[in-house]
Amino acid sequence: MAPRTRNTRGVPTVSELRQFARYHLVRQVYDHPARDEEMGVVPLGYDPDAFEAEIRARADRFEVTELTRVEYAGRSRPIFAVRSKNHSTASKRLLVLSGVHGNEQAGILCVPEILDRYHAAGEEFADVALHVITPVNPVGAAEISRFNANGFDINRDFVRFETDEGRVVRREIVKLHPDFVVSLHEGPQDATFMFANECVSLELAERLLAALEAGGTVLAERDYFGARLTPKGLSPSKPVTRLLVRLWAATLGMRATNAYCETLGIPELTLESSWRETDEATRIRPHVDLCLALLRELA
Ligand SMILES: [Zn+2]
Repeated sequence: MAPRTRNTRGVPTVSELRQFARYHLVRQVYDHPARDEEMGVVPLGYDPDAFEAEIRARADRFEVTELTRVEYAGRSRPIFAVRSKNHSTASKRLLVLSGVHGNEQAGILCVPEILDRYHAAGEEFADVALHVITPVNPVGAAEISRFNANGFDINRDFVRFETDEGRVVRREIVKLHPDFVVSLHEGPQDATFMFANECVSLELAERLLAALEAGGTVLAERDYFGARLTPKGLSPSKPVTRLLVRLWAATLGMRATNAYCETLGIPELTLESSWRETDEATRIRPHVDLCLALLRELA
């Protein structure tokens, strides 16, 4: 790999964008959880053992179970399901997918705060159950990789379900049939935006964006392909993107969670904070604020 010209503008270089485009063309990119260090992802110090302990420490306030364990290099790591205790009585259900891409650490590190804020809200969310799957990709998270133990991109696996992780998420979505799914990601763009599938109304998306801005999140003007976002911070579902997504599934056998949810009629938002941002609080804030704003919308 040729040395990269140091990017001082905080925006992706052409070679980074080219590499990133490759992520959209192959389901199994490697045969191991590769790090792809040239992508400019700033790590936030995720420690898998500490994170597992933080989740288990909340078992007094939430129902914490292991959906499965995933093995790599002689170690196995849990995929947790964390459910609020009202999960069998509440009439609404929010499902949060955290850490589908293991190296997008803000989408994992935000979970304890989301749980604590949900719990602290008490009666406000009595009729909204919170379900969190975290980390969806525990091997990738431990290895600081986008990919799972076999080098698969789990978020391209929602046609063929070749990965254990993809099958676990499908099983939970089908069983739960949530009212809303939010998947917490990060990307190479310079600020925060979200993809909405066609089941998400523009009015709702705009209220959620306003909640993000009110919390201090800077919304991106362009997505990570350089396309202008209208409104700022939102990549809505459009007829042309839906056509591309259908072609992508039919020709390359690739589909992400947002399009999979669309086939079930479930609204889904994929949040993308900037993995280039060095300040941990700035990275984590949009994930927490979006989940809380969605819970309030459902309550
Ligand atoms: Zn991602």
